[in-house]
Amino acid sequence: MANELNNFSEIIAHCKEYGYIFPSSEIYDGLSAVYDYGQNGAQLKKNIRDYWWRSMTQLHENIVGIDAAIFMHPLTWKASGHVDNFSDPMIDNKDSQKRYRVDHLIETFADEQAATGKSEFAKEIITKMEKFLSKDDFVGLKSLIEENNIKCSISGTCNWTDIRQFNLMFETKLGSISGETDTIYLRPETAQGIFVNFLNVQKTGRMKIPFGIAQTGKAFRNEIVARQFIFRMREFEQMEMQFFVRPGTEMEWYNYWKAERLKWHESLGLPAERLRYHDHVKLAHYANAAVDIEFEFPFGFKELEGIHSRTDFDLKQHQELSKKKLQYFDNELNEDGKPYGNYIPYVVETSVGLDRLFLTVISTAYAEEKWTKEDGSEDSRVVLRIPPKIAPYKLAILPLVKKDGLPEIAKGLMNECKQSFHTFYEEKDSIGKRYRRMDAIGTPFCVTIDHQTKEDNTVTIRYRDTMTQERIALNDVRKLINEKISN
Ligand code: ATP
Repeated sequence: MANELNNFSEIIAHCKEYGYIFPSSEIYDGLSAVYDYGQNGAQLKKNIRDYWWRSMTQLHENIVGIDAAIFMHPLTWKASGHVDNFSDPMIDNKDSQKRYRVDHLIETFADEQAATGKSEFAKEIITKMEKFLSKDDFVGLKSLIEENNIKCSISGTCNWTDIRQFNLMFETKLGSISGETDTIYLRPETAQGIFVNFLNVQKTGRMKIPFGIAQTGKAFRNEIVARQFIFRMREFEQMEMQFFVRPGTEMEWYNYWKAERLKWHESLGLPAERLRYHDHVKLAHYANAAVDIEFEFPFGFKELEGIHSRTDFDLKQHQELSKKKLQYFDNELNEDGKPYGNYIPYVVETSVGLDRLFLTVISTAYAEEKWTKEDGSEDSRVVLRIPPKIAPYKLAILPLVKKDGLPEIAKGLMNECKQSFHTFYEEKDSIGKRYRRMDAIGTPFCVTIDHQTKEDNTVTIRYRDTMTQERIALNDVRKLINEKISN
């Protein structure tokens, strides 16, 4: 019954078949690396987002949430460094005209080597690549590609251009800003909406350092090699939290959030053995420490969340370009008995992609199961073992037949339960088929109303994960499900 790791295409097909994820504008043949969430996907995504929001803002009394606009003044992106630095080294194959992100091209090659048993060689290649990347040594990177005869997957040739930087921000036009340029950007990260509102929140919320500001929302990146389903998209959603701290204490908070975030992923039901840390060798221009939490996706370990110690880089830059002071007055006393006074806080950031998290949940939950029944015949099912607290529907209510007053009892129960959680009502097909459909969309509990219900007010509850059934009182259903889904 074990969950297979190499079942990615089945997971993608399942997501489409059961209303989780559709290719965007599919009737026009879709749009590359853009996806729509269907009726079950939208609810699961919302539940994951709510779980994050609750753990950040409700369970931490010193973290508040905001919702900043996607469009921001263009100077924001000059200040943050995105206009000048938010680019990836790219290389084009002259024969196929196909463009690759250099790190992806080399990583794919290394993965292929590892798959053929040459793990040491693969590690060596990655180490060399990281060394060149950390020095922006494009000549070194190109020779690494050529020396190893790394080929374009389309043309099959090694006929490469030089390596160039390619900016990932989408540009668009907005009327006219103060008579200057009318070019604005779709935000490539949500973090800057937090930085520019830092003082607004601190003053109106009377926040005392250390404190955090959280935000969830869309971000846009013109990814060149957008692939692997919702892992890398051009429009995606981030859940970010910037934690403002006293300078000099940032490493303590960095380590705190590093540990805290790993625990959080485990609390969401992700298996510990499929999570690991990856310390950055090449630090982003704003960071003095950075780590990724990686998850073992069906295509290998990849970044799920980034935790960055961003120093005072962003606030300092915004202070300089906006010419508005972005300082905090710290009236606590230092070792000399004097107030710490005015300073620009340091920042530790936690940044997780909601869509990637969705993919971790779905790929952990998906299982194809086969077993032999008591009479010796074979049976099977596809089940999404989504943790009940985030499953789209918590309870399916199924009258055994469409007559004899059973639908009326079922609807009565539904009206009671829907005040507390999402319920699904279905009366078509055999009960076995209905159970299988609920397994496939991940509904953790089904309640069947049958003729005995009319006699003794009891129902059959069936548990998705074990497929076991028991009889419970009709009046206890809502309370029981509430207990099972509470955090
Ligand atoms: P990668 O190296 O995979 O491109 P990144 O280091 O650029 O990611 P960050 O800028 O740290 O990513 O963004 C924080 C989080 O946002 C990532 O950990 C990831 O979960 C998510 N994310 C980033 N880019 C994408 C994307 N194109 N599609 C979906 N999620 C993304």
